[in-house]
Amino acid sequence: MLSRDQKIQRLSELDQNEVTGCTRCRLSQTRTHTVFGEGAPDAKIFFIGEGPGETEDRTGRPFVGKAGQLLDKMIAGMGLKREDVYIANIVKCRPPQNREPAPDEVATCTPYLERQLEIVRPKVIVTLGKPAAQHMLQSKLSMSRLRGQWHEWRGIKLMPTFHPAYLLRSYTRENREMVWSDLQQVMREVGLRIPSREDGAAGT
Ligand code: URA
Repeated sequence: MLSRDQKIQRLSELDQNEVTGCTRCRLSQTRTHTVFGEGAPDAKIFFIGEGPGETEDRTGRPFVGKAGQLLDKMIAGMGLKREDVYIANIVKCRPPQNREPAPDEVATCTPYLERQLEIVRPKVIVTLGKPAAQHMLQSKLSMSRLRGQWHEWRGIKLMPTFHPAYLLRSYTRENREMVWSDLQQVMREVGLRIPSREDGAAGT
């Protein structure tokens, strides 16, 4: 078990010594900034998205564009702040035109994410969208099959849910309720109080 200070140090060394200058795959040629990930080094909940978009590439921070605003609302709905959780992606550089990261890019980049996960050792991982779920679980199943159920990654419980960008495109009551139900399972697992819908706390 690492102390909070050791975690901070190891995460910062990984970012500065390896990720910031990484040229292991073609995405490094078109990126502006790498997006390492950020949040509490001892977070209980670790969110994993797909990859940086335009705003993330410009700022070097994960989930700070439109999808990020919805993720912030989802986190607030759980009674938490962004600083209470950890947020990263399966690739650290923006794929051109926001295309899905290619399998070889994901394979090259994810050892960094795995090291972040081993340092933080959260209680729960929440994958956002299909590429993150399918990669973490090494599965080809659809999101409708994967979401809403507990899975495991190296002994850590993992809950797949929809990506906030998908929710924004398909902002139906049914989709919002599915995400909220997935997040409630996560809250129960980490011992957070589940607010009622009337509290307006669903976020999404
Ligand atoms: N979408 C993602 O998957 N990750 C980000 O960091 C931003 C948008």
